[in-house]
Formats: sequence, structure tokens, C-alpha cells
Amino acid sequence: MRVFRAVAVVALFVSIGLGIVWYLYRAGYPLPSSITRIIPVRPPVPEGILIHHSATPFRLKGRMVDARKIDEMHQQRGFSIVCGEKTYHIGYHYVILPDGRIQPGRPENCPGAHSGQSYYNQRYLGICLVGDFDSHGRWNGRRSPKEPTPAQIQSLVKLCAKLIQKYNIPLQNVRRHRDVSQTYCPGDYFPYRRVQMLIAQELEKRIQNASVTHPTH
Ligand SMILES: [Zn+2]
Repeated sequence: MRVFRAVAVVALFVSIGLGIVWYLYRAGYPLPSSITRIIPVRPPVPEGILIHHSATPFRLKGRMVDARKIDEMHQQRGFSIVCGEKTYHIGYHYVILPDGRIQPGRPENCPGAHSGQSYYNQRYLGICLVGDFDSHGRWNGRRSPKEPTPAQIQSLVKLCAKLIQKYNIPLQNVRRHRDVSQTYCPGDYFPYRRVQMLIAQELEKRIQNASVTHPTH
């Protein structure tokens, strides 16, 4: 009987210990590598999307601003991480060009470097629209802000709807960078309300299409 009691006490302490370790791990505390190896590292499941602009003109020094250019810019700013044994410099998960093309940045299961806060870097996917959509934006003393192109808006809406369905992201977790940080990003010309409405419409369309292509009878 005494043995059983001893075993129960040991089991209790072990589970409390593991519980504390698990809590610290979930809270983002770095763990000693021996413990990291014991706990299977679950790839983070995105809980939201943060929308950004590149705060640049469409072209810089005659070169198109795209994922590769942003990769170089973020390498200089020290945003690099190693994820899945590959090194990524670009802090965003996706880049949307003025013509609507969507370019991949970091893989979706790698933490981003786009919000300035570890909470959102860990849990939110970062999508960057190339351009400067803020009235404060100036390049070489010239104001260059404008709205995103219709093609960019269309791609953003489709990409957000796809990610929302894939990860079960609540629509209200599609937010602007400025909603979580001291920044103008993605600018006061970014039509946030319209984008939210278009995403809701796109989701509705996808749900209707799914029920048409998969009849229940
Ligand atoms: Zn931003």
C-alpha cells in the first residue's frame, strides 16, 4: 500500500512538472534543448492574418519590388530565421505584386517577422501588398501613395479566403498591421472595410460552390 502511495505521489509531481514545462513552452519560453527534444514540436497553426504594405513604390531604382527584393531588404534588417533547415530572410509569408501575382515568402508553418511583436509573428500570417498606401508616404521627397490595384485587392481577398478555410481563422482575425502596432501600415488609403466585405462574400461563394459540387443525394 505504501508503495502505491509513493508511486502516486511521484506521478503527481511528474505531471505537475510536465504541466509547468508545457505551459512555459506554450507561452514561448525557450526550453533547454534536452526538453525540446522530448516535447514534439507542433508546427504553429495560424490564428490570424496581418495585412501589410511594402511602403515602397512599385519599383526601386528601376527594379521591381517583389519577394526577392524584400528578401534582400529584410536580410539587411536582420529578420532571418532557419525553419525546416532552410534560411529565410523575408519576414512575410506572402507578397502580392501590383499585377495581382502572389509570391510565397516564408512557409506558412514558420513564424514570421512582420509585426514587431512575437505574439503576432508566431500566430499570424503576414501578407504584404507591394506599394505605399499611406498619405504620409514619401520617396525622394515625392508623395507616391495610392490605393492597392484592383488586381491586388482581388488576389488578397482570394488568398485570405483560402487561408481562412484552411486554418479555420475567424474573419475578425484578418487585421491590419496598424491594428496591433504603432504604425501606419498598410496605410490610410488601404480599403480595409471593403476588403473585409469582399472576403465575407468570397467565403459565402465558396461555401455555396462546395454544396453545389458535392450534392448530398
Ligand atoms: Zn506592416
